[in-house]
Amino acid sequence: MTHALLAHYGLLQNMHVVKPVPARDKDLCRFHADDYVSFLRGITPETQQDQLRQLKRFNVGEDCPVFDGLYSFCQTYAGGSVGGAVKLNHDYCDIAINWAGGLHHAKKCEASGFCYVNDIVLSILELLKVHQRVLYVDIDIHHGDGVEEAFYTTDRVMTVSFHKFGDYFPGTGDIRDIGYSKGKYYSLNVPLDDGIDDESYQSLFKPIMCKVMEVFRPGAVVLQCGADSLSGDRLGCFNLSIKGHAECVKYMRSFNVPLLLLGGGGYTIRNVARCWCYETGVALGIELEDKMPQNEYYEYFGPDYTLHVAPSNMENKNSRQLLDEIRSKLLDNLSKLQHAPSVQFQERPPDTEFPEADEDQEDDDRRSDDSDDENEGKPFVGRVKRELHDIESKDMDVKKEGAGASANASAMDASFAEISIKDSNSGSVAAAAPLPQPPPAAVDVKPQGNVTKPEQPASASDMNL
Ligand SMILES: [Zn+2]
Repeated sequence: MTHALLAHYGLLQNMHVVKPVPARDKDLCRFHADDYVSFLRGITPETQQDQLRQLKRFNVGEDCPVFDGLYSFCQTYAGGSVGGAVKLNHDYCDIAINWAGGLHHAKKCEASGFCYVNDIVLSILELLKVHQRVLYVDIDIHHGDGVEEAFYTTDRVMTVSFHKFGDYFPGTGDIRDIGYSKGKYYSLNVPLDDGIDDESYQSLFKPIMCKVMEVFRPGAVVLQCGADSLSGDRLGCFNLSIKGHAECVKYMRSFNVPLLLLGGGGYTIRNVARCWCYETGVALGIELEDKMPQNEYYEYFGPDYTLHVAPSNMENKNSRQLLDEIRSKLLDNLSKLQHAPSVQFQERPPDTEFPEADEDQEDDDRRSDDSDDENEGKPFVGRVKRELHDIESKDMDVKKEGAGASANASAMDASFAEISIKDSNSGSVAAAAPLPQPPPAAVDVKPQGNVTKPEQPASASDMNL
């Protein structure tokens, strides 16, 4: 649905769409345990009855069900996020987008909240090959626990999560959780209550993120844009408008630091598509008309057929006093970080190599499932060169032909497409998009409750940070 809106709003012609190269076992094992990855690769709806012990051990089966194509779903969304990180590392674009990513609850050897593989941790590890410090920001209504846990003891990754706290899944994210050892003060948690509106949210988001950028000075930013923090979400209880949510994207973009935009939760799907479409426009610096263009999901957007929806009149339980206290506490913690940490220079690890598998959007109407064709096995660097060439020639085509959103509409028939973008207003944007059968994506469905501890919590030292 998001992709349909991007196509019909004419945004795809400002982007370079690239197909996600599936992450391989060894790519997933940079964070996840070998036996967990083997389990995900092998499990099927038919065989799951024979593996009850393993299902329980890896927390798969209830909130995180087994379904046909589960492993390839994981490989695809993880490949999109890591591929975006590789592009940012190569300065191929300023902003990379993977709305299918952002599955922030997955642990080293445990699925959680509809997240199986943590594409965010994997993409941050990729960014750390080039950048000394990476900032992670999470505006999903649920605490970004999997990412926080992975980097809890390092000062090379700062995690900042804004979330509903108190009798709410996953149960973690207390303001007093600030990181440990070298990571002390490098985890920030912003606990919020029901009904928060745009103004209250931004009264925390902007001053906190301004200070974070000042003291931490990240080389790259990963922003998880979970849309379950929007007003009217089926599982959420906040009252943000799409513009209020997108203000976070606009603000983080304004620092002109390489930016990876990821999806996440969101359970009123018409609003999820609206939100991520609008935020793609924000990434491109293009303001979209409220009146929605015709598209294949048009009937979902009635009765108004507009991009924006009004927030509700629900009570905002976040008092001014409470917000002031949270802000001062967090700014105080940040003031303890006077200088951005540095790391010793060391040889740069090799990029994650991806075999070639993208095509230009214009050609997509001929493509069905024949994904990895003649380019299989090519290293990524060559691919970047080719894509840069493609972008240049495509720019010329756009100039010749002028605008025309419909040219890309046929791409909707492809089973997957990936996007890369050339931004007319500022730098360039690249995005990976799953098409058009919505994968069973949707993150963190688990209602309230049980905070479980993984058998082997991942730590930054496991990953040699
Ligand atoms: Zn969520």
